[in-house]
Amino acid sequence: MDSYRMWIGGEWLEAESRKTYPVFNPTTGEEIARLAMGGLPEVERAVQAAHRAFAGWSRAPQAERSGALNRIAALMRENVDELARIETMEHGMPIEAAKKVITFASHAMEFNAAAARSLRGEVIHAFPNTVTYLEREPVGVCALITPWNVPLFMICAKVSLALATGNTCVVKPPSINSLIAVRFAEILEKAVLPPGVVNVLTGPGGSVGDALASHPLVNLVGMTGSSETGKRIIASSSRSIKRLVLELGGKNPVILLEDADLDHAAEVLAHHQFFNSGMTCGSPGRYYVHPAVHDAFVEKLVARARKVVVGDPADPRTTMGPVVSAEHRDKVEAYIASGIEQGAKLVCGGERPTAPPLDRGWFVMPTVFIGVTQDMTIAREEIFGPVACVMKYSPSDDVVALANDNVYGLCASVWTKNLAKGLKYGYELRVGSFWVNQHNHLAPEIPWGGIKDSGIGKEASIEGLKEFTQMKLMSYELRG
Ligand code: NAP
Repeated sequence: MDSYRMWIGGEWLEAESRKTYPVFNPTTGEEIARLAMGGLPEVERAVQAAHRAFAGWSRAPQAERSGALNRIAALMRENVDELARIETMEHGMPIEAAKKVITFASHAMEFNAAAARSLRGEVIHAFPNTVTYLEREPVGVCALITPWNVPLFMICAKVSLALATGNTCVVKPPSINSLIAVRFAEILEKAVLPPGVVNVLTGPGGSVGDALASHPLVNLVGMTGSSETGKRIIASSSRSIKRLVLELGGKNPVILLEDADLDHAAEVLAHHQFFNSGMTCGSPGRYYVHPAVHDAFVEKLVARARKVVVGDPADPRTTMGPVVSAEHRDKVEAYIASGIEQGAKLVCGGERPTAPPLDRGWFVMPTVFIGVTQDMTIAREEIFGPVACVMKYSPSDDVVALANDNVYGLCASVWTKNLAKGLKYGYELRVGSFWVNQHNHLAPEIPWGGIKDSGIGKEASIEGLKEFTQMKLMSYELRG
């Protein structure tokens, strides 16, 4: 069994405790590697390394910082097959999708490298003979705590925002699939960055993540994960004052009006519902469908769900692999059971495959519920699995109020041929991202981030870069 160390201060280190933890292949349930279980001594070492590296990195020419990110992006593209193989093996993402996601991650990194070169400060005209301006500067040491749902992409997105803007960082990947983070650290080593600029620290969120979030030398916590963890981070980080960028859960409403293009809607929404086994924060969480188009839409959605090829993610023909862990499968199955118990009607899926070889892995079949009502658990909570929850609304319902009646506010979409009507919904829905006739349509140029329990701040784009900078007032009087 291969065992992997942590990348701290430009060195490969075991945990002082010598403890390790396993990662598993969700397709077979087999243990595939052991990783160093970092603890408090390693948190201290990594934060100190990032703190020492900050003076040099924050003052390096922008071209040098952007150049380093471009080297990392190029190495990722050179190694895309190997990185995708790992993502498939430890996360279960179908191999062709994994290659696309990793290529997208390298593009995001290049975008951040280029866009950071155009960030500017601002001059303020307040007094004569005085130069007053806002200097944009890096925030400092960033703790970057990432989730398991798109593991390498999440690391690249955060590391590139932090580094492009002159910060240094400690990355804490998720325990479930942290092997890809260590392989990413091997790329960092090849890209030859100054020691301590990026540190990769593996270990449990409850101890290592918490210690990072509360460390007095950490100036920014950038975290993607569940809203519960986000709230814990808000509490523990408050022992000192830090910048927080939190990308949290969602239960995203999708509203289909009576004039929606149903074929287009079913195609786009089924893709986002079942992509990555539904483990995508922006996936459709609940559908509100006008009664005039309800049955036709459900028929089209179910037809697409039945076309999803569930199988070994290493097989290029597979379009949906397992969910990430046995624990997560149990959670998704508990939601399916609650939907049935509370009176929703299962019209597709709901079971796990029983035929070999899929019986060994943690699979859930593409699932569609109809007859869901607003009060049901599956209509209110984030399932994070391949489960569509369809509600038929009545024309007398205030569908905006129904859609807004949830703790989350990540994203939403409305489907209609009447653009003016669609945009009106956009102004009324309390979410961070909104589309008419599209859903979760993203690019490195487009900012991403939720409101309410879905988070604080934006990731990606120029807005994402700005989150990793702060404005300092500088002023001098002209004399003589
Ligand atoms: P999670 O359990 O909240 O874990 C996220 C990260 O936080 C992991 O690295 C975890 O470490 C760490 N962590 C756990 N407890 C911590 C603590 N007390 N202090 C500091 N760090 C701690 O989330 P997940 O299950 O990996 O990811 C799924 C969730 O992420 C879903 O809710 C999904 O909606 C959300 N998500 C949101 C976005 C977005 O952009 N809004 C994108 C993707 C995913 P361990 O793994 O070691 O526990």
